[in-house]
Amino acid sequence: MIELKGLTKRFGDSTVLDGIDLIIERGEIIVVIGPSGTGKSTLLRCVNFLERPEAGQVTVGDLTVEATQARKQEILELRRRTAFVFQNYALFANKTALENIAEGLIVINSWPKPRAHRRAREILARIGLADKADAYPASLSGGQQQRVGIGRAMAAQAEVILFDEPTSSLDPEWVEEVLGLMKQLADERQTMLVVTHEMGFARDVADRVIFMDGGRIVEQGPPAEVFSAPRDERTRNFLRKVL
Ligand code: ADP
Ligand code: MG
Repeated sequence: MIELKGLTKRFGDSTVLDGIDLIIERGEIIVVIGPSGTGKSTLLRCVNFLERPEAGQVTVGDLTVEATQARKQEILELRRRTAFVFQNYALFANKTALENIAEGLIVINSWPKPRAHRRAREILARIGLADKADAYPASLSGGQQQRVGIGRAMAAQAEVILFDEPTSSLDPEWVEEVLGLMKQLADERQTMLVVTHEMGFARDVADRVIFMDGGRIVEQGPPAEVFSAPRDERTRNFLRKVL
């Protein structure tokens, strides 16, 4: 249902994504691991053209967007079908939790405000923040802010949610509640592509773990395989450091 073909991204002389091929099935939970600077964030950003790839194509459902000839309308449609959860939450500081969740529905999906707000209230209940509808981000804990960030992605009803190190900015005390919400989504078979250093989450929740190094997918497989019997030396070195 989601296919990346030959996805390539360069910054100046350096090739940061080197022809990534990947098929993600509906309902699949994929965790991407690998050393820093290896292109994991760039991969997620290229999937929805936050970063424009130089070559390759992205297919989500019946929409295929070619790097070299992507039209603005196609990119907007691609972004409607993919949702992003950022490491630093990226909430609007001057909007309440409810408004943060409703904003995309109003601006991107052109929903009337009352309908968007009704949906945002449902989402707030699902993420356990029904009582924080009118709270501004600054008055929420890091964990609550990131749950709003995830709620915003849920509201979009995207085909896939892209998570870029969603717990890396959190104080340790808030990590579990955010991972818990992600597990809840995984149980509902929300398709997810997750970059994370949380190996426990990868082991428990992922259908497939992908190890990236140097802008390439070096190795992939079910977590039990990749973690207990990594085939590539680079995967073994990385896992020795993080496990
Ligand atoms: P990761 O998420 O795996 O840590 P990134 O995708 O953030 O890696 O970065 C991969 C490489 O691309 C790094 O060397 C980084 O410095 C470089 N890079 C990322 N974004 C930019 C950019 N906007 N301009 C120039 N170089 C970038
Ligand atoms: Mg990154």
